[in-house]
Amino acid sequence: PSVRDCNEVFMTTSAQLFEQASRHIPGGVNSPVRAFKGLHRPPVFMERAQGAYLFDVEGKRYVDYVGSWGPMITGHADPDVLGAVRERLDKGLSFGTPTAIETTMADLICHMIPSIEMVRMVNSGTEATMSAIRLARGFTGRDKIVKFEGNYHGHSDSLLVKAGSGALTHGEPSSPGVPASLAEHTITLSYNDSDEVETCFEEMGSEIACIIVEPVAGNMNCIPPRPGFLETLRRVCTENGSVLIFDEVMTGFRVAMGGAQAHYGITPDLTCLGKIIGGGMPVGAFGGKREVMEQISPLGPVYQAGTLSGNPLAMAAGIALLTKLQEPGFHDALAQRVETLCHGLQERADAAGVDMLTQRAGGMFGLFFTGQSRVDNFAQATACDAEAFRRFFSAMLDQGVYLAPSAYEAGFMSSAHTPEDIQQTLDAAVKAFEYVRQ
Ligand code: PLP
Repeated sequence: PSVRDCNEVFMTTSAQLFEQASRHIPGGVNSPVRAFKGLHRPPVFMERAQGAYLFDVEGKRYVDYVGSWGPMITGHADPDVLGAVRERLDKGLSFGTPTAIETTMADLICHMIPSIEMVRMVNSGTEATMSAIRLARGFTGRDKIVKFEGNYHGHSDSLLVKAGSGALTHGEPSSPGVPASLAEHTITLSYNDSDEVETCFEEMGSEIACIIVEPVAGNMNCIPPRPGFLETLRRVCTENGSVLIFDEVMTGFRVAMGGAQAHYGITPDLTCLGKIIGGGMPVGAFGGKREVMEQISPLGPVYQAGTLSGNPLAMAAGIALLTKLQEPGFHDALAQRVETLCHGLQERADAAGVDMLTQRAGGMFGLFFTGQSRVDNFAQATACDAEAFRRFFSAMLDQGVYLAPSAYEAGFMSSAHTPEDIQQTLDAAVKAFEYVRQ
């Protein structure tokens, strides 16, 4: 087809666009969760976004609680972020040389997250975690890594691994294409289970390069750490010479200005960042203790590189956004909005007689359709009522509220959400809970 043919949009509804997309894009999407799999309806194709709202190709408006999966913490199309990008644009898109704006970004990150003494920019969260793990292995000279069931750290091979038959046995690939010989170095433990972590380190602590953890789990809905869990991880890593990696791709600058590590008062050795630091552009970063980071090339022997890393437009967007977040009271106000939403939803679910639980941390939250009083791990998260979620999601979408299209994803609040937006969400929820009960 000619370029003109490819650019022409003949179809106008989301359903039609999805069908058209599915011809040349696997599953019609460039990231699986966007496909609305299991939700019995086609995904909504968005045309534009502004503040707290998404607008679909048919012109319908949605109050958005996905925020591009996290970055849009001040709302979509933030004029300060767009302005910073516009200002950089005419200077050129990419040079492949050092630029001063990269130093500004590094200084800002190190200022906002004091455990980060040096930082390397990459292009995605996946690259950040993959590189941090290589660095931890290179630094310690060890191969084994520990991660937690239901935590997601992107799609690099070492991390697409599930537990073997027993908790401390060798891991198994969770996707075809991941070599078993690589997966066997990944140990997958149960989130929030400090005893299991202790046992694991008693048995093989001297072989473990690192623990990687989401300090608030946001990829199995929203599961905060139990008191003592992060402390245990810190202690066993220190005692065994292992590197503690906080994957703050989601929680960084969202749970608190200094991330979950500031909120819970635990200092990791390395931190992975993404989402918010790019302001909506493709960016990731990893950083931490100077003595560890100095092992990265060209200073040290651990190889890591990127053609577009530190891209000036992405730096401009990220710096503009991070600068805004430093306004006093920003995160308290964000957490307050989340609390209002969660309390309101809980009240309405209780009134409707629907078993539902909310959990939250700073600017992120989760809704669990369950009678349990709290959800601490993957087994409990996956025991929730998937059909109730599907019905709730669908009824909310019909009423113009865009929640994460999966029962296992966290929700994200932005500072652009007004009390009226939250009220609209709560009014929609009353009808949605009725539909859940039918
Ligand atoms: N780590 C966490 C905690 C994430 O939530 C994600 C993505 O959602 C990633 C890593 C991977 O980031 P990316 O999708 O930018 O590769």
